[in-house]
Amino acid sequence: MKEILFLEPVFKTMIWGGNKLSSQFGYEIPSQNTGECWAISAHKNGDCTIKNGNFQGKTLSYLWDNHRELFGDLEGEVFPLLVKIIDAKADLSIQVHPDDEYAKIHENGSLGKTECWYILDCDKDGEIVIGHNAKDKDELKEMISQKRWNELIRVRPIQKGDFFQIEPGTVHAIKAGTVILETQQSSDITYRLYDYDRLDKGKPRPLHIDKSIDVIRCPHKDVRVRGKTDKNEACEIEELIQSKFYTVNRIKLDGVQKLEQKYSFLNVSVLEGEGEIDGIRIKKGDHFILPAGYGTYQLQGTMEIISSHI
Ligand code: ZN
Repeated sequence: MKEILFLEPVFKTMIWGGNKLSSQFGYEIPSQNTGECWAISAHKNGDCTIKNGNFQGKTLSYLWDNHRELFGDLEGEVFPLLVKIIDAKADLSIQVHPDDEYAKIHENGSLGKTECWYILDCDKDGEIVIGHNAKDKDELKEMISQKRWNELIRVRPIQKGDFFQIEPGTVHAIKAGTVILETQQSSDITYRLYDYDRLDKGKPRPLHIDKSIDVIRCPHKDVRVRGKTDKNEACEIEELIQSKFYTVNRIKLDGVQKLEQKYSFLNVSVLEGEGEIDGIRIKKGDHFILPAGYGTYQLQGTMEIISSHI
């Protein structure tokens, strides 16, 4: 019988962070500016620890290195995905991520970063930055050098439950008042294009204009998200995205439902409600992995869940 791997999140204090990871999720947070909960991560900058069972106290990266059978003997140097909850009390900088190819050459062999956002909460009239209005690289360079940020950047309204895929090369920023579940490649490479001319301890945070211009895709193209929805007796499973790097689904459960874990691993985050998985209590804010070969599992309760696999 394979064990479910429950994870202890790692928290990050950020100048733009707030306290909703405590007030909404009940986590013990390190400061009133806690911006990120790294909920399922084996990244060296925030490696989660297993909370239960045979592997209690071990890190996820340790399991990846020493018990690859838990992940279906997948190849690769690092556990490929990273799941975060982000609480933006203030605007994040306008940024862009490289793809694998660019990161490999310019960032010491790191992975690039494709990420996606599921909006958990936002202010009334909430907004987000995705994309830009430059038709080609020359116009992009011109608009950046002339600081025509408002003209360059695309801002769009958001609502709770919205979902966005952020491909490498996409200009993007989370804006104040937004709580997001982010599923991404396990990478921490960000190029900051514009930081609203803010000061951090009296100094502007560094920008990475040249690398940003290198990687920004021109013109911007939106990615289509939200695929088919499977209706089962007690749950509805909606495919939010299926991409080269991950598939992300939303599960809305009300009752008892048997499902199949047939992937090399399945990341699961409970975002609303409470219930049980195979008789184990689970609730909002829990994150766990169903390992390879886990097979059939039974969910019970009223919950909203986001799952991801490769
Ligand atoms: Zn990003």
